Amino acid sequence: MKKTIKDLSDLKGKRVLVRVDFNVPLKEGRITDDTRIRAALPTIEHLRQKGARVILVSHLGRPKGVTENLRLDPIAKRLSELLKNEVKKVEDSVGASVKAAVDSMKEGEVLLLENIRFYPEEEKNDPEFAKKLAENADIFVNDAFGTAHRAHASTAGVAKFLPAVAGFLMQKEIETMGKALEKPERPFVAIIGGAKVSSKIGVIENLLEKVDYLVLGGGMIFTFYRAQGYSTGKSLVEEDKIELAKKLLASGDKLVLPVDVVIGDSIEADHADGMVPPANIPSDKIGLDIGPKSAAQIAEILSKAKTVIWNGPMGVFENPAFAAGTEEVAKALAAATARGAVTIVGGGDSVAAVEKMKVADKMTHVSTGGGASLEFLEGLELPGVACLEDK
Ligand code: ADP
Ligand code: MG
Repeated sequence: MKKTIKDLSDLKGKRVLVRVDFNVPLKEGRITDDTRIRAALPTIEHLRQKGARVILVSHLGRPKGVTENLRLDPIAKRLSELLKNEVKKVEDSVGASVKAAVDSMKEGEVLLLENIRFYPEEEKNDPEFAKKLAENADIFVNDAFGTAHRAHASTAGVAKFLPAVAGFLMQKEIETMGKALEKPERPFVAIIGGAKVSSKIGVIENLLEKVDYLVLGGGMIFTFYRAQGYSTGKSLVEEDKIELAKKLLASGDKLVLPVDVVIGDSIEADHADGMVPPANIPSDKIGLDIGPKSAAQIAEILSKAKTVIWNGPMGVFENPAFAAGTEEVAKALAAATARGAVTIVGGGDSVAAVEKMKVADKMTHVSTGGGASLEFLEGLELPGVACLEDK
């Protein structure tokens, strides 16, 4: 258990440096989705109420040096609206101008530093740079779960120089997912899909030890079908992972593979060409979604589950012709939540899928971290979490 901002007793007048994830999508200088900004509000509001001087730091995009259209000014403006209080913004992240701005802050005020990735030292986790960042603060709060898998100066390095605790968003992420992994209520079911086996090996291996069922879907199932001796037409197969798939299949009886597959001519096809069992995939077709029998089978498993982790879409959900499998699983998860099960969705595309299907608010937890939640589910230690003080 990591210390959180709730464990800090005296915040009055303290300079609190908060790493947030304000890496929002921008179009022509305008924020198209402010979810990430709103996700940080509980931490910011709490610190303001306690009389802290709140200094926010984030990255935006992948700048190489100072990049005019990646300055954080639009974010300061949006945050000011959300807080109904002016958020000042400086043009640097370290140094004298920041010190001057911080010195003039009153209790409860909020300051936003410039895009931290304008400095190459950030991604190098340069200790001198981390020290400079720490110089203008008394306490470090990490609330940026989405970048916690990166050991950068503002996500981990700075914690060497300041007392470091988790913000509310970070706390929710690591406690919800941590409890599911360590002390799940059973039956515990994982649903793993997505494009490739290779990107999910770590997650599959880690979860296989913990779950009662591990349901597979998405593009990776064809490598498993090949391991079972089926031919898979033009479906996505990673030849060099067939042996691994054989090993995983032989390792026990927790793995559940779909029993029917929706086939089509291409990812962009405007229609599906029907459903087949895995043994009958035509040589000229591609498997692009799980079929209705598989979706029903998954719904049946989920109807008894008490903990569910879902990562990776069941099919090419971006195309409505191949979205039904993902949609059915999303609905089954929503029903499980309604019954009282703990349901967790992690992974960039999986989260996009539940948002597109308007069921994100019907899950216990939708992780704000793509790569970070994947690494968490792999059982890896995230540098942005490891650097925080234990309770
Ligand atoms: P996440 O971001 O949730 O971890 P991934 O990045 O692993 O998920 O995978 C998402 C991608 O997998 C989606 O873009 C989806 O179109 C693709 N996908 C799912 N099923 C198939 C399939 N049968 N063939 C090819 N691609 C697939
Ligand atoms: Mg993805």
